[in-house]
Amino acid sequence: MSLDFTLSRRQHELREAIHSLGVSVVRPQSLAWDRAHRIPDDFLRNLVMIASSMGGGFAMTPGADPPAANATGAKKPSAANVTTAVAAEQMAWADGALLLSLPGPGLGGPPIRATGTPEQKARFFGMFADMSTELKWGAYALTEPGAGSDVAGIRTSCRKDGNHWVLNGRKCYITNGARASWNVVFATIDPSLGRAGHRAFVVEKGTPGFEVGKLEDKMGLRASETAELVLEDCRVPDENLVGGEDSYQSKEGFMTAMKTFDNTRPLVAAMAIGIGRAAYEYARDFVKDNYVLSRPVPRYAALAERLARISRDLEAARMLTWRAAWLADNEIANAKEASMAKAIAGKSAIRACIEAVEICGAEGSIAREHQLLEKWFRDIKVYDIFEGTGQIQRIVIAKRLMTNLRTF
Ligand SMILES: Cc1cc2nc3c(=O)[nH]c(=O)nc-3n(C[C@H](O)[C@H](O)[C@H](O)COP(=O)(O)OP(=O)(O)OC[C@H]3O[C@@H](n4cnc5c(N)ncnc54)[C@H](O)[C@@H]3O)c2cc1C
Repeated sequence: MSLDFTLSRRQHELREAIHSLGVSVVRPQSLAWDRAHRIPDDFLRNLVMIASSMGGGFAMTPGADPPAANATGAKKPSAANVTTAVAAEQMAWADGALLLSLPGPGLGGPPIRATGTPEQKARFFGMFADMSTELKWGAYALTEPGAGSDVAGIRTSCRKDGNHWVLNGRKCYITNGARASWNVVFATIDPSLGRAGHRAFVVEKGTPGFEVGKLEDKMGLRASETAELVLEDCRVPDENLVGGEDSYQSKEGFMTAMKTFDNTRPLVAAMAIGIGRAAYEYARDFVKDNYVLSRPVPRYAALAERLARISRDLEAARMLTWRAAWLADNEIANAKEASMAKAIAGKSAIRACIEAVEICGAEGSIAREHQLLEKWFRDIKVYDIFEGTGQIQRIVIAKRLMTNLRTF
């Protein structure tokens, strides 16, 4: 196993491009988007065009670009997950809600990519090839009232009826769920079967019986759409059962959901680090600008020491995140590492935002167009909630440690 933290030229260029965009265009509008609860479609359309002119996008699709076999049949490792982590950190540094609002399959992509049939991949990914006239999103609908962390406890039901499935239930907190062209919806044939009863369906917009409920008014990431979805005798054709019926043996339905997390947890970790770093940099510059003349009085030293701790923790979280992403790129099981990255990144970034506000005093809590610290403080908390809370990550890690006693 090689150990190399050098980013490729393409990864550097991507990071630089997103950084410039963030400074010049994204951050100046970030607070306005937050207040409007929306990022304008025109802005997203321009972004999609810039992304495609850069050769296929900002690589926001974890698990994409699977390793290709060369002439000898040997697989060349993909770098898609590491590239995505690098890009996601930088984009969240600019605006976390923007990243979640990007058109494309979003979190709905990984389960189809992992277990979808070739026809499903062609149908449901093909629609994103041209978004010049219409923006399109995919979404991932697993959570429901009473079943967030307890994924195995979902109650949305699915019943076979001829060459259709009939779905009934309610999903909540679904990112881009209202505007999505399709949602990957998880349901159960029988709740008493637990994970073995789970099925995943692509439910297309406009399917009779599928309705959008309320749009949530959130504390942070307010420009990102979060929707409730209602399924009432919603008839979904057989061909939309992700992977087809044969793939649902034993725990496979649940595994589809979990495979998604192994790819997306490092991505969410990277996003948290981006926001934590933004807060850290703001506080660092604030201290330099406001306290440098008081050096070496104890106050400056104490603040510098706090900044050093924040920076250290974010850097450690980034290393774990890149490693989890690298394992995914090399098709090595990464559930434990993905959870470790998510757990440490969420906590480190929350601490970074809290401490940054404290370091800046009252000024840190004031909202202004070019002062986004209070916004990052509101945005960051959810990174320790969605894609599995911190407690759930620790449960996943503990299970892996206790069932596999190999320590490295
Ligand atoms: C902005 C936003 C976007 C989201 N986007 C999506 C999306 O696109 N798709 C989707 O499906 N979901 C989405 N979610 C839902 C998210 O994944 C859930 O909120 C999350 O899994 C936590 O579930 P819960 O809110 O029901 O909390 P609960 O599961 O009720 O947890 C409440 C508390 O109990 C703790 N807890 C729970 N179980 C245990 C245990 N066994 N041991 C110890 N502590 C425990 C938790 O850690 C937490 O602190 C989103 C949520 C938000 C806020």
